[in-house]
Amino acid sequence: MSKILIVEDEQSIAELEKDYLELSNFEVEIENDGKTGLERALNEDFDMFILDLMLPTLDGFEICRQIREVKNTPVLMVSAKKDDIDKIRGLGLGADDYITKPFSPSELVARVKAHLARYERLINSNVTENEMVEIRGIKIDKTARRVFVNDEEKILTTKEFDLLTFLASNPNHVYTKEELFRSIWDMESVGDIATVTVHIKKIREKIEMDTSKPQYIETIWGVGYRFKV
Ligand code: CA
Repeated sequence: MSKILIVEDEQSIAELEKDYLELSNFEVEIENDGKTGLERALNEDFDMFILDLMLPTLDGFEICRQIREVKNTPVLMVSAKKDDIDKIRGLGLGADDYITKPFSPSELVARVKAHLARYERLINSNVTENEMVEIRGIKIDKTARRVFVNDEEKILTTKEFDLLTFLASNPNHVYTKEELFRSIWDMESVGDIATVTVHIKKIREKIEMDTSKPQYIETIWGVGYRFKV
């Protein structure tokens, strides 16, 4: 469940925001004072901040600025004046969004949801840095150099892996055996293009259900091979 901190000195507005956000299953905490709000924002784990601009002891501008020095957590600024919006933009505080009072609670909820979804995508894309190729049940983790067919891991040799990955990374492209040999094997390699045929056969034995009817690597007679999409 996403946890949101509202820093707002007008208790009735804070409560209204809290009620609507809780109806959408968010966990919400309220802080009425600017300095305390900033402290909590910096020291506790929240998924989003909703900051009022005019606050006792420290204003929303400063809170936003200080949060941005250390966190990427989404910040929604709330202001009573349209003019403030220009100021938020002009200061380049790094706020993700702004909304003017009075606003409809459903609009607030919609914006919170949008920012949290975006932030979650951002976080997930940072975590899964492994470069993957996924085509019809086959999953190639290029970073970890692992191959899965319908979630079952297949153990490939280095060259088998390189060849499969090369073909799968360029699907629907027909390569001649010569091209594949040049791409995968370095100049010093002993061997010839027959090596490619041998490796394709071995890969098929590992990844295909039926090697006589290959679903992934297709033979283009007289030309070479291609990875089907
Ligand atoms: Ca205020």
